[in-house]
Amino acid sequence: MGGLAAAAALRQRGISVQVYEQAARFLRIGAGIQMSANAMKVHRMLGLEERLRKTAFQHRARRHRYFDSGAYESEFDMSVVERKFGAPHLMMHRGDLHAALLSLVPDDIVHLNKKLVNLEQDANGVTLMFADGTRATASAVIGADGVHSVVRAQLFGAEQPHYTGRIAYRSTFPSTLLGDLDIGDISTKWWAPDRHIVIYYVTKQKDEVYFTTSIPAAKPDLESWSLKGDLAELRSAFAAFHPEVRQVLAACPDANKWPIFDRDPQEQWGVGRVYLLGDACHPMTPYMAQGAATAIEDAVILARCLEGVASADLPSALQQYERVRKPRASRIQSLSNLNKRNWMRVDPNAPDAAVKENDPGWVYEYDACTAPLQ
Ligand SMILES: Cc1cc2nc3c(=O)[nH]c(=O)nc-3n(C[C@H](O)[C@H](O)[C@H](O)COP(=O)(O)OP(=O)(O)OC[C@H]3O[C@@H](n4cnc5c(N)ncnc54)[C@H](O)[C@@H]3O)c2cc1C
Repeated sequence: MGGLAAAAALRQRGISVQVYEQAARFLRIGAGIQMSANAMKVHRMLGLEERLRKTAFQHRARRHRYFDSGAYESEFDMSVVERKFGAPHLMMHRGDLHAALLSLVPDDIVHLNKKLVNLEQDANGVTLMFADGTRATASAVIGADGVHSVVRAQLFGAEQPHYTGRIAYRSTFPSTLLGDLDIGDISTKWWAPDRHIVIYYVTKQKDEVYFTTSIPAAKPDLESWSLKGDLAELRSAFAAFHPEVRQVLAACPDANKWPIFDRDPQEQWGVGRVYLLGDACHPMTPYMAQGAATAIEDAVILARCLEGVASADLPSALQQYERVRKPRASRIQSLSNLNKRNWMRVDPNAPDAAVKENDPGWVYEYDACTAPLQ
């Protein structure tokens, strides 16, 4: 997400870019993703807003319900979001978002099957080394290589993430499998004392439904997008939940699982001509739905800092990128790690909606396209 957004934003400013991706091809992985107003402002600048509005689901409200009775704990009116924060909040399939970002980048600069294994830099540039034995050179490298970043490990050594003891099961599947159940024009978070599940549509036609969970679990061996979830285990974890939740889980044909780790904000994002972006430098728990959003913000600030910069000045422009981005990304990362139940329950119309930690305003009103670079 962050790598493609960075490539698109850099190209918009006339900067030549190559993208190296380890995967042999891109698959439509079964996961939904929320693009909040701060991310949508970047998509507007990249020229993707209309495309995303045409395909994504725009929910009327975000609702919190008690897991067993189904009683409403709170409801947040999402219709105020666009007026208040200057862009919509859309729910979409991760594959649709990826395809939209990919459409901004010409095929001939995306090099698949290029797994980075090492890199070396000197005063003038960087050499990248791939698993297939090939090499490439560049005047700067942005490691947008995700939570297990090889670039980060090369720069700063292996990290020690902390397993939170929780797993996110995720699935997207055709809404027809729900039978007569309509989950409504809302995103619903069902809360039990030690676990929750979020359910929403991911397409404008409401023909695909998505859920993501957070449940206590022993640590799996891997942290990967493609770990298969055990459906019997998943359903039994929600056996005490409201019939609507059980009906969604009964309809689900398969699910992936993602162990949730948290990491402290990283002190340094790069060295010389090599810097990190997105999960590679600020991986966060999914509880605020801001991981990809902040990666996409990074992309624009990076492009703005590098615009018109000569090769000799790239290291200082990259330092400026880190200076601008780190405080905000670290703040969101730390807050996300808290998994606060009250998140998004502040009424943005309330007179006391000043900037405070559990008021979403400071997250969503931010505009990376115009934010000061100093
Ligand atoms: C359960 C869950 C729900 C989430 N929901 C949301 C949400 O609603 N909204 C939101 O904004 N965020 C959400 N996130 C977070 C979001 O998915 C991530 O923050 C986001 O994908 C990070 O983007 P990225 O570009 O930094 O890394 P990634 O998307 O992980 O991309 C990294 C890329 O680098 C490639 N790569 C890795 N290593 C190498 C290598 N050695 N050589 C070459 N290529 C390599 C990978 O193949 C991949 O294509 C969620 C996360 C989880 C786990």
